[in-house]
Amino acid sequence: MASTARILSSVRIARPALAANVTRQTRGYASAAAGGGPNYGLILSLAGLTGIGAYAYLQYNPAAKAEISAKAHELEAKAEKKVRGVQSEVDAANQGTGSFGALIKDTWTPFTLTNIEPYNHNTAIYTFSFGDDSQHKVSGGQVASALLVKSPGGDDEVKDDKGKPVIRPYTPVSSTEQKGSIDLMIKEYPTGKLTPYISSMKPGQQLLFKGPIVKYKYEPNTFDRGLAVAGGSGITPMYQLISHSLNIPEDKTKWTLVFSNVTEKDILLRKEWDELAKQNPDRLDVKYVLDKGPWGWKGETGFVTPAMLSKLFPRSANSGERIKAFVCGPPPQVKSLAGPKDGPRQGELQGAFKELGYAADEVFKF
Ligand SMILES: Cc1cc2nc3c(=O)[nH]c(=O)nc-3n(C[C@H](O)[C@H](O)[C@H](O)COP(=O)(O)OP(=O)(O)OC[C@H]3O[C@@H](n4cnc5c(N)ncnc54)[C@H](O)[C@@H]3O)c2cc1C
Repeated sequence: MASTARILSSVRIARPALAANVTRQTRGYASAAAGGGPNYGLILSLAGLTGIGAYAYLQYNPAAKAEISAKAHELEAKAEKKVRGVQSEVDAANQGTGSFGALIKDTWTPFTLTNIEPYNHNTAIYTFSFGDDSQHKVSGGQVASALLVKSPGGDDEVKDDKGKPVIRPYTPVSSTEQKGSIDLMIKEYPTGKLTPYISSMKPGQQLLFKGPIVKYKYEPNTFDRGLAVAGGSGITPMYQLISHSLNIPEDKTKWTLVFSNVTEKDILLRKEWDELAKQNPDRLDVKYVLDKGPWGWKGETGFVTPAMLSKLFPRSANSGERIKAFVCGPPPQVKSLAGPKDGPRQGELQGAFKELGYAADEVFKF
């Protein structure tokens, strides 16, 4: 952008500068002539600069001068048109596939908090702007991907017990096509490290972002039925994944979401899930599970067990159906459903899914 502006302004100043130069030359020649004697220095330099000499001569030929001036205008217009053409291509590329995303893989980039929308007693949606110069950019994350967050350096920097900066992954709840900003739904853990800092932030303050980290590259129709089992704030990758799949017209994948929480007021994105299920009755089935349901609760209660999974997501052994299960939640829940993750690696398949006969490549742990 800056270089284009420079090119445009250099085109604009080129002609006046040339004109001024020629004017200086012709004035020198004219004044010398008017003085009655030849200006040898000027004549010699003009002899070596026939182009400029010819131009000076044209000062006495208004028709030719007008023609040259018209030519100069034409050239200037052509140059500006070319620069604009290049600029429109750059703009189109910037707004296109997201390859010009605001997130940078190996560099911490500051984004500014612009809005906080409380969601429930411990969770809010935080909107972070990419900045004035990047309002045309998307985040650059694919589905399903997360990003890394840390606090800015300085006295208030959040550090762990070893004095290292605390870094946490989050999954945007905004669409990958949203321009200029991202929305993060973040649940505060009062005894946690980073979330108390985030929940104390005010609009105008910044966090540092890096990414995206592709967790699972979703391709439509690669399995017939998907099962998403989430606990608490582990719902955000499922929301990104399933809402994306439902938005792809040619995608026929059917989804079941099993979403467990302590109480009803802990159910995040409930309105959004209910709306998605209403709009896609043939493709999405949502099952809420509570630790202990209130009076009249019609959903499941207690921990998610193999028996509960077979009831909510039955599968027959020889149907030939392609199935994929996704798990995201607190580490004890992930462990009991599919075995612990091994750092960033998937780790061995254990727990409920193993018991139910799922193969390792049929289960993905976020
Ligand atoms: C891929 C991915 C995406 C995620 N997306 C989101 C998202 O969109 N939104 C969201 O809110 N969260 C998300 N999370 C979770 C998020 O990364 C953080 O883990 C969460 O915000 C807590 O961070 P914290 O630093 O505040 O808490 P932490 O310091 O990590 O602590 C969390 C809880 O664990 C307890 N705890 C910590 N250490 C111990 C210990 N040694 N023994 C016992 N208890 C302990 C703390 O007291 C606290 O209650 C995601 C996680 C992953 C892996």
